[in-house]
Amino acid sequence: AAKTSGRNRLAYFTQSLHDEAQNRLKLMHDMHFAVENRQFELHFQPIIDFASGHVSKAEALIRWNHPERGMISPAEFIPLAEESGLIVKIGDWVFREAAAQAKRWCELYDIGLQISVNVSPVQFQSDALSIEDWLHHLNEIGLDANHLSIEITEGLLLNASDDVKEKLLRFRDAGIQVAIDDFGVGYSALSYLKRFDIDYLKIDQSFIQNLETNQNDLVLSEAIVMMAHRLGLNVIAEGVETQAQRHLLLEIGCDHGQGYFFSRPLPAAAFEEFLVKPVA
Ligand code: C2E
Ligand code: MG
Ligand code: MG
Ligand code: MG
Repeated sequence: AAKTSGRNRLAYFTQSLHDEAQNRLKLMHDMHFAVENRQFELHFQPIIDFASGHVSKAEALIRWNHPERGMISPAEFIPLAEESGLIVKIGDWVFREAAAQAKRWCELYDIGLQISVNVSPVQFQSDALSIEDWLHHLNEIGLDANHLSIEITEGLLLNASDDVKEKLLRFRDAGIQVAIDDFGVGYSALSYLKRFDIDYLKIDQSFIQNLETNQNDLVLSEAIVMMAHRLGLNVIAEGVETQAQRHLLLEIGCDHGQGYFFSRPLPAAAFEEFLVKPVA
């Protein structure tokens, strides 16, 4: 009996691996048509400037409204898009969509809002990524480049090729600021900070989560803020969910906060409403 059930388990296991692979293949296939079929949507999460209490930035976060499966998280499909190479085309769409919204909101509200766009390492390193096209597009729609920024991860800078260095310089020369996303969880090899011109560190939400109860997280966050300021960088705390966390972040001199305490990522229309009402 044991043998049979073992074999059944194996069969079940093999079957679920098979389903998993099928599922991935189907998503990869469906993703090819998702841009043309307008299935992607950008949501915008407000980033609050602690000094003024106002929204000074927003992070653009992609959503996929799949016809059969409903909303699919980027955590699920971005890795597939990276594997298939489609990330460059999707990333181009994200950039243009973010630029269009930035243009609209800057004209409507004149608050110097900056929209940040996530650029995956695969996308950044791809030859198909054309910064020239992006800048040309900004020129065409008449949006100043300083209304956009990009978020990259530490891993990209760790063993950065000349090509990566050159691209990074081109972004900054054009006036597009650069943030290090999920700071602190990756490689903790800090030497890249002195080799590259970076504008923001985004402290990973895993540090913020237990800020009130875990003394180590508070000490590390404070150290990150001090180091960043000494290097001339601004700091954004990710995943701020409570008033107590906000207070502690103010105390340690953090510059900006982003998280459910202020607002979840919002569809464009709802973000626009959020912009015009005062923040807690
Ligand atoms: P990320 O860039 O670190 O984005 C922050 C994530 O934290 C978002 O998840 C956001 O919804 C979530 N978040 C914000 N505030 C809170 C909070 O207070 N508590 C908690 N628990 N979570 C919070 P999301 O939207 O699911 O995105 C996941 C990841 O997918 C992003 O992490 C980013 O790496 C990637 N991603 C999203 N949009 C894009 C895109 O347009 N292009 C690329 N290449 N990657 C993207
Ligand atoms: Mg990000
Ligand atoms: Mg992050
Ligand atoms: Mg993340």
